Amino acid sequence: MRQPIDAYVLSKCGYVSLFAVRSGYRFRNFVREDFTMWERITEKLKILSDAAKYDVSCASSGGKRKNENKGLGNSANSGICHAYTEDGRCVSLLKILLTNFCIFDCAYCVSRKSNDIKRAAFTVQEVVDLTINFYRRNYIEGLFLSSGIFTNADYTMERLVLIAKKLRTEHNFHGYIHLKAIPGASPELLREAGLYADRLSINIEMPTEQGLKLLAPDKNREDMIRPMNYLKTEIQQYKEEIVKFKKTPAFAPAGQSTQMVVGATQETDLQVLYTANHFYKKMQMKRVYYSGYVPISTDNRLPAIGTPVPMIRENRLYQADWLLRFYSFNVNELISPEQPLLDLDIDPKLSWALRNLSIFPLDINKAELPLIKRIPGIGVSSALKIVAARKFRKLNWEHLKKMGIALNRARYFITCNSPDFEIKDYQPQQIKQFILTKGNSKYENTFSQQIPLF
Ligand code: SF4
Repeated sequence: MRQPIDAYVLSKCGYVSLFAVRSGYRFRNFVREDFTMWERITEKLKILSDAAKYDVSCASSGGKRKNENKGLGNSANSGICHAYTEDGRCVSLLKILLTNFCIFDCAYCVSRKSNDIKRAAFTVQEVVDLTINFYRRNYIEGLFLSSGIFTNADYTMERLVLIAKKLRTEHNFHGYIHLKAIPGASPELLREAGLYADRLSINIEMPTEQGLKLLAPDKNREDMIRPMNYLKTEIQQYKEEIVKFKKTPAFAPAGQSTQMVVGATQETDLQVLYTANHFYKKMQMKRVYYSGYVPISTDNRLPAIGTPVPMIRENRLYQADWLLRFYSFNVNELISPEQPLLDLDIDPKLSWALRNLSIFPLDINKAELPLIKRIPGIGVSSALKIVAARKFRKLNWEHLKKMGIALNRARYFITCNSPDFEIKDYQPQQIKQFILTKGNSKYENTFSQQIPLF
């Protein structure tokens, strides 16, 4: 009787060398058919992991699935089983497409039907086996599964759901699962997906409806909004019920997220952030991801090949997004119709502070917490530390330094109990120049991509 593939070996250089080792057989006993199967799966992995790299919405923050029945894996919401790159991308999930066949022809997408590329599709069982084998060997901590749309939305969604279902019910898998919900899929399938996946996401694709019409005329924004609304209601209901009934089955406990392609059309950062803000407020999105368009086509509706969106634009959008969610900023404070693009030289918080110099300097020993959080160089946890520590002593430069505050930026906006702080009547442009010449941006020279499997 044929034995299942038993091991996948990850080489030190980070590339996967895939060896099918049959239980009970020595390596030299491999037969031709094993190699054929191995080669076929390797080839599919190459194609479908590469196609998945354009999707950036795979951070697993917020997932919590406790392993109670000696099952496989454990997902926690504190990030213990995920690794994040500096720019917020998660690299520890097996990130693949079920298939890169697609009936649609979205101009910005590498899987569009008119693109002349190699196509491949996994079977449901192949994805299940890969996930389990990779997980057992500690190469991954979960699965991020997306797909091109073949036949129709429900046909594709059914297969995605089946993979998650098999992992949970047949393999007792408790690792993190992020499924892409296919726009236009039926509520029944979305409901089932929510029961097995930690997070579901539906990509909004373009920041505006006009952008979507221009580049993906076959697609309908309503097909994305309707399932998002459905998920919002179900997630909300789950959150309410779990408080009353402990045994309520989990429904997408890590919430839903979405992704926008930035820079494929002319939308400004103002439009991008308005759209993101709308989804946070109206759809209770856990995250909105921004994916800088990588020119892959000579289509004249798109930016030319060789002119990718600068990585720094993505970073600035993520920083602004962070300020909206955790620092109580609103979009109008960060960006305006008169200046609809974020400053690429400096982060949005510093940019805001320079436009509002009249409220500074703030006395760090007296200022209210919400204002302290708005000081460049001071994050939420540092602000809380300041408020807690100043109950016991007047804070000076040394205390602030020990708390990890970025004084190269903060020093221009605060006063404290220290003679070293000499506030001068600087102009915004001067402060910007001082900071740019003295400090190093933490985003400088960082560009991380999905780690290649091969
Ligand atoms: S539907 Fe999705 S996979 Fe298909 S072409 Fe459009 S963006 Fe690409």
